[in-house]
Amino acid sequence: MSTLRFYAVKKTLNRKPVHIEETQRRSEIFGSNVFNEATMRQFLTKEAFNSVMAAVETGAKIDRSVADHISTGMKEWSISKGATHYSHWFQPLTGSTAEKHDAFFETIGNGLAIEKFGGTQLVQQEPDASSFPNGGIRNTFEARGYTAWDPTSPAFIYGTTLCIPTVFVSYTGEALDYKTPLLRALYAMDTAAVAVCKYFDKNVKKVNTSLGWEQEYFLIDSALAASRPDIVQTGRTLLGHSAAKGQQLDDHYFGSIPARALAYMMDLEVECMLLGIPVKTRHNEVAPNQFELAPIFDEANLAVDHNSLLMDVMHKVAERHNFKVLFHEKPFAGVNGSGKHNNWSLSTDTGINLLGPGKTPMSNLQFLTFFINTIKAVNDNEELLRAAIASASNDHRLGANEAPPAIMSVFIGEQLTRVLNELENVTNGKLSPEEKTELKLNVVGKIPDVLLDNTDRNRTSPFAFTGNKFEFRAVGSTANCANPMTVLNTIVAKQLCDFKAEVDKLIKKKEMKKDDAIFNVLRDYIKKSKNILFEGNGYGQAWEKEAAKRGLSNHRTTPEALKVKVSEKSIKIFEEMGVMNKIESEARYEIEMEEYILRIQIEGRVLGDIARNHIVPVAVQYQNRLIKNVKGLKEIYGKDFKKFAQEQLNLIEDISGHISSINSDVTRMTDERRTANLIEDFEIRANDYCFKVKPLFDSIRYHCDKLELLVDDELWPMTKYRELLFTC
Ligand code: ADP
Ligand code: MG
Repeated sequence: MSTLRFYAVKKTLNRKPVHIEETQRRSEIFGSNVFNEATMRQFLTKEAFNSVMAAVETGAKIDRSVADHISTGMKEWSISKGATHYSHWFQPLTGSTAEKHDAFFETIGNGLAIEKFGGTQLVQQEPDASSFPNGGIRNTFEARGYTAWDPTSPAFIYGTTLCIPTVFVSYTGEALDYKTPLLRALYAMDTAAVAVCKYFDKNVKKVNTSLGWEQEYFLIDSALAASRPDIVQTGRTLLGHSAAKGQQLDDHYFGSIPARALAYMMDLEVECMLLGIPVKTRHNEVAPNQFELAPIFDEANLAVDHNSLLMDVMHKVAERHNFKVLFHEKPFAGVNGSGKHNNWSLSTDTGINLLGPGKTPMSNLQFLTFFINTIKAVNDNEELLRAAIASASNDHRLGANEAPPAIMSVFIGEQLTRVLNELENVTNGKLSPEEKTELKLNVVGKIPDVLLDNTDRNRTSPFAFTGNKFEFRAVGSTANCANPMTVLNTIVAKQLCDFKAEVDKLIKKKEMKKDDAIFNVLRDYIKKSKNILFEGNGYGQAWEKEAAKRGLSNHRTTPEALKVKVSEKSIKIFEEMGVMNKIESEARYEIEMEEYILRIQIEGRVLGDIARNHIVPVAVQYQNRLIKNVKGLKEIYGKDFKKFAQEQLNLIEDISGHISSINSDVTRMTDERRTANLIEDFEIRANDYCFKVKPLFDSIRYHCDKLELLVDDELWPMTKYRELLFTC
């Protein structure tokens, strides 16, 4: 009998929800572990406070002597909250967060000690960085990288450690993390957007990017998760037959949240409140045991930090509730996967959402400007946007049997499509006063009403306009949002720069009025961006055919998708916007390809092990039992035995067939891996893993899953889908 499986199931059946009591209002505890504005006022000198605020608002440099004051204030606050250590907190390209704790404690001779934390330690650290991925930027033996304080994201206390958000760069200045390029992209966006805003309002000095992510995840009992080597090592099930009941009844989505899961969420939300993560929404998702959590949107850099931190907090809180959180995009075949919708918008320091329609024709023209420029940016850079969300695990969603597809398209709804159609017909050149009045009153001026009625909810589009923001839905649930946010902001920033140049040219060379010029350029953009607009169902072959006709890319796998990161065009756009230089682009490409290879390699090893060492032996054991049975029947019935033993004989044959297929496929997979591993060139190696190794997973799984249906349930070693998925 399969002891571990049944032990785990039994353990799960005895679980009770952990009792969580909220004694304080959330608004009272919100941000209490964050060194935020209110706390800074309390713990910093006026000079130090002003200096941090200037750094946040205008990017001003913080003087070293002031840094000493700031660090002292931070230390006093941290110690008052029970912290003993500090850590630079950063997001290396491994996909998780990194921290190295140092105690505030220092000896001062004569057996005495004090708590110390100086400006230097706040501003810069040099972690031993040789083990973080660097794509060849930094010679590993040199191992010289440093972390530097990012004052735009406030420090926070996590456990007993003061965490200081930092960037992580090489000594030669190249980014080794997710945050650095993001900050550069946000800066590029700010600059480009402010310049365009000036056409409409001279008072705009800053444009902030907002991000509201929605995090989907699965909760699995920790004992059940531990009973599956594939979940433990790869975060997903590599095999397992579908349960008789999956999600077909749609009875989980928005249903009442199971008690254990609810207790987990409450506990988690309290932790989030303390850390200043403004979580607001929680609900069941489509698949059994699948849930979603979403905050109130925030400035993008902060929102990215919050999401990275959240994923860590989610794992930690889960331990208290005997859960394991699965962030994998497709932990279970046959039920919905998880994504992380990135809701994105732009807002000015004058309080205007640039992607929200306004009250006057002029503010609506501003809205249309940003709206159409975004569409154009996606149209011109759809491949790069696809690359930004490519990963081995997200391949199970994009381009597999699930929406959204691997084809990037933009959904804007019927009403806005109509507006664009009208704008497309404006006169080429100067507009007559009548035409302009007509446009402003009846097209541009009508937008707010139009959007209020806009109830379109297309759920299959990877990039959809949803009233006052774009929602990038193809982002994977494991992803660090910084990557897609960096790309999106870079391409839109670049687009806005081009737009500004074109409008200025028309004003100058053709002596056009400002709004004539804007209408002209926008008309041109609408014409040029037609291919990317798609209102239909993005799931299925009809769209694939249509998309191919339109010339849109359809990269189903990560190695195919990533390639565009090092195209001449991509390298140039990142360079031009000051986001990444060529070395950085190339390094990231290499790191992501290597990561892809490693993921598939690990999955291959685990699958081979499970199939050969867990499944086949049990199948043989069961087969032996059948053989014994047949022999017994023969003993009793002599030559008539077949009358009674035919089913068993068929089973014996079926089992043999599956065993032999598993064995030959595992051997082939191992051989393919071995061959691939010898390939020096990572591009060819990744392709081998993608097209030669990985396809064998499917057939190995197929035969294992068939055996699951044949072999005695008592013997089966792998915890089954029905046990994993309905015990929350
Ligand atoms: P759903 O897609 O599930 O309907 P909602 O419309 O409730 O989701 O919003 C989801 C996320 O979008 C939330 O995190 C919310 O804060 C965020 N959001 C709302 N408005 C904006 C905005 N203007 N900019 C960026 N994010 C936004
Ligand atoms: Mg959404």
